[in-house]
Amino acid sequence: MLKKFFSFYKPHKRLFAIDFSSAVFVAILELAFPVAVQWFIDVLLPSRDWNMIVRVSILLLLVYILSTFLNYVVSYFGHKLGINIETDMRQQLFNHVQRQSFRFFDNTKTGHIMSRITNDLFDIGELAHHGPEDLFIAIMTLIGAFAIMYNINPELAIIAIVMVPFLSIVATYGNIMMNKAWKNMYGKIADVNARVEDSVSGVRVVQSFTNEKFEIARFKEDNGNFRLAKLRAYKVMAGTHSSIYMMTRLVTLVVLVVGAWFTFQKKLSYGELVSFILYVNVLIKPVDKITALLELYPKGMAGFKRFLDLMEQEPEIKDRPNALSVSHLNGNIEFDNVSFRYDKHKSVLEDINLSIKAGETVAFVGPSGAGKTTICSLIPRFYEVNEGAISIDGLNIQDVTMQSLRAQIGIVQQDVFLFTGTIEENIAYGKKDASVEEIRDAAKKAHLEDFIASLPEGYNTQIGERGLKLSGGQKQRLAIARMFLKNPPILILDEATSALDTETEKIIQKSLMELAENRTTLIIAHRLATIRDADRVLVVTEDGIAEDGSYNELVAQDGIFARLHNIQFQEV
Ligand code: ADP
Ligand code: MG
Repeated sequence: MLKKFFSFYKPHKRLFAIDFSSAVFVAILELAFPVAVQWFIDVLLPSRDWNMIVRVSILLLLVYILSTFLNYVVSYFGHKLGINIETDMRQQLFNHVQRQSFRFFDNTKTGHIMSRITNDLFDIGELAHHGPEDLFIAIMTLIGAFAIMYNINPELAIIAIVMVPFLSIVATYGNIMMNKAWKNMYGKIADVNARVEDSVSGVRVVQSFTNEKFEIARFKEDNGNFRLAKLRAYKVMAGTHSSIYMMTRLVTLVVLVVGAWFTFQKKLSYGELVSFILYVNVLIKPVDKITALLELYPKGMAGFKRFLDLMEQEPEIKDRPNALSVSHLNGNIEFDNVSFRYDKHKSVLEDINLSIKAGETVAFVGPSGAGKTTICSLIPRFYEVNEGAISIDGLNIQDVTMQSLRAQIGIVQQDVFLFTGTIEENIAYGKKDASVEEIRDAAKKAHLEDFIASLPEGYNTQIGERGLKLSGGQKQRLAIARMFLKNPPILILDEATSALDTETEKIIQKSLMELAENRTTLIIAHRLATIRDADRVLVVTEDGIAEDGSYNELVAQDGIFARLHNIQFQEV
């Protein structure tokens, strides 16, 4: 895992080198300081050489300026390094999530994904900056300070260094506890995110059931759990911190007392004693740094582990190594003994055989839950067949790149997903390099022109989050305009008009039929009036395709379709 972590430094080698070398230099200056003080007290002061003192002060000033500058470099470039790494990881994770298959999103809460991409990575940048640098410098200072102290007075040096193993024990124990606590905390904040995502995107349902209190109570529980988890982490942190603080102060005290005793016995000069006390503080610094690291490490690594968990989840559906990129398909679709299940336990499609000719318009009818949508989701490979094969123009769709396959297929569904942005941007989602003329033309073909002209800002009108400011019919028209732009040879209309009133449906139907011209079109519909013009009708039931024929043939057959037909047209 550490190897993977360090691989993120590679693109930022130079930044790391600048930061690291500056930090080492700062550490060396810090190590040298007490020696200078000792010399000042023991040599310079007794000499009473004022000129020398002035010169030394000027030198000291220059050293301070240098170390200030280096500290700035460490702070700025170090954090820059950290942020760069954090941003790289976030980008990789987003790219990775974009490549995931439908099943992944079926099984993963949106809020959890959001949490991974945002919060979980917050501490990694800090760790990336402080991790290797602080560890190296801490060890260097520890060894350096001890060596110098040992040189001054071995007995006192050993007294001072004894604290290190004790500190390590306390710190390691604290580390283990904190690791657990932070990991737990990240899980809880992900729950909070998932809850927010759910109740905010579902707020209209919440309010229509007047379930606000219920949602508030649920949120309160998740939020409370998060609070407890974070509180627990801070408690462990505070405990570890205070124990370490207490131990370091005790050592300073012992060194002070024993050192004072040694000066009485003339084993130690005053300058040496002062320098020693200063070194104890130098010694405490790396210990502090290591404890801070021990705090940061589990925090950052907990996030990094979650990052890796997701990154290692390969997309279920991928291009084969030698997949073909097709530029144009005619749209002869063939299902060969296709079986499919969403999960192991329940088969949705069993041994489906189906053949659709290029240019044909085929309607799918049947009870809800029979598998109509599923059949259509298999064609763009949103899900992979479990057995059998689907081919288009004789090419197994698994041998074609997903990019080129999906470019040939357009889907209009019952609920149209619109993105935050303008009407123009939303139409252009069908073809991102479309010219203004192409967009206008598509809008015209979808009969959106008059509506857009009636808006004060026309094509630049913001449609509001998820298109909430548009009516159902307008949204469908927008989806149809997208399709005219995309202009795919294969078109899937999955209950595209089911949510509309009959009057609007009739009007939209006209646009849809214009869209369907010269394409292979699969229409899923509940209202039979909308499929009158289909070349063929397939009745899908839970047992598979039960009937297959022209509209009139099926009515004459006196089967499922005839019954459906009678029910729907008796009322009229
Ligand atoms: P239809 O479009 O004919 O109404 P679907 O194809 O949507 O039917 O669903 C067929 C069956 O598959 C149903 O039993 C449904 O519960 C199940 N199903 C649909 N989508 C999923 C999914 N994403 N995960 C698991 N099961 C699903
Ligand atoms: Mg469906």
